[in-house]
Amino acid sequence: MIHELPKLPYAHEALEPYISKQTIEYHYGKHHLAYVNNLNKLIPGTEFENASLDDIVMRSSGGIFNNGAQVWNHTFYWNCMKPQGGGEPSGNLHAAILKDFGSFAEFKEKFSTAAATLFGSGWAWLVRKDDGSLAIVQESNAGNPLRNGAKPLLTCDVWEHAYYLDKQNLRPNYIADFWNLVDWNAVAGRL
Ligand code: FE
Repeated sequence: MIHELPKLPYAHEALEPYISKQTIEYHYGKHHLAYVNNLNKLIPGTEFENASLDDIVMRSSGGIFNNGAQVWNHTFYWNCMKPQGGGEPSGNLHAAILKDFGSFAEFKEKFSTAAATLFGSGWAWLVRKDDGSLAIVQESNAGNPLRNGAKPLLTCDVWEHAYYLDKQNLRPNYIADFWNLVDWNAVAGRL
């Protein structure tokens, strides 16, 4: 089975001024594509040759996991954002955030801290745990919370390639801008 780079759900310049067209061209057009191409090179002749991407994320290891999970994570990340996103969630998601974090501001602060303090490369996630509660988790490298039985709701890519062209070393500025792009309807739909 050949894995393909999914179409970006908006134009390359659509997330400006928060994420530049140039960043998207590299991040989506080169990094995400490289993970897809690497995965396709690694799976022939292995038990994952015809496996779904979800199955690869759940069961593989080594290079197949690293590239497969990075394909999954990036596709998910693109679908966590939209032009004219941001604001605050409503409905059930809003209620769940209040219940587990006290307020939206508190949630935002905790998620931002998780994203900013993740050492090295990785991902900050909002997840729904088995018991229905929400949690913020940090995953290094290609880590994905599905492996721990949690359901991903929102993610922020904090690999340097996500922000270095626009923000250089200032990861917190990228995280602050990320909040202007979050597609809360998409996040709520995953709850
Ligand atoms: Fe990335």
